[in-house]
Amino acid sequence: MNTSLLVGIHELPRRAGEHKQLHRICDAPPDLGVEMIGVRTGDPVNLDLTLQSAGEGVWVTGTAVAELHGHCVRCLSDITYSDSFNIAELYYYPGREADEEANYVVNDEIDLDPALRAAVILELPINPLCTPDCLGLCPICGLNLNESPEHSHTDTPPDDRWERLKSDLNLNQ
Ligand SMILES: [Zn+2]
Ligand SMILES: [Zn+2]
Repeated sequence: MNTSLLVGIHELPRRAGEHKQLHRICDAPPDLGVEMIGVRTGDPVNLDLTLQSAGEGVWVTGTAVAELHGHCVRCLSDITYSDSFNIAELYYYPGREADEEANYVVNDEIDLDPALRAAVILELPINPLCTPDCLGLCPICGLNLNESPEHSHTDTPPDDRWERLKSDLNLNQ
């Protein structure tokens, strides 16, 4: 089974509108993610793509589905879920003028790595959360407050802000 991100396009005519479907389960390349969440290297990425000839190159559009692994930025618990990413990338035919960031068809092949990377990294949350209302960790002892929402440190001397707030509210009887 071909798990590579390289796709041969020799059988795709250069006439505008010609297209071919590509279904492939490839191995996730390294560093497919952001700091707190991403796809594990070597995990399956399910590609469902259309390669379409355009005047200046080949348009690659479709979806990549993969499992994500990461950590909640508030409570640091593990996060795992599957997500679908939209791919839309133009690969210029050799010799076409484009900016430095452009992707090119090389030796009748397309390297899907930059397209996949752009799609996944653009859509991943920079600050992933285990749940939208995650309570995070206790700033004093590090306990996960989702597991004990009532947790508090009543023995700990309250800090100045709390003292000021209490006097503002006339809580000091
Ligand atoms: Zn959390
Ligand atoms: Zn605590």
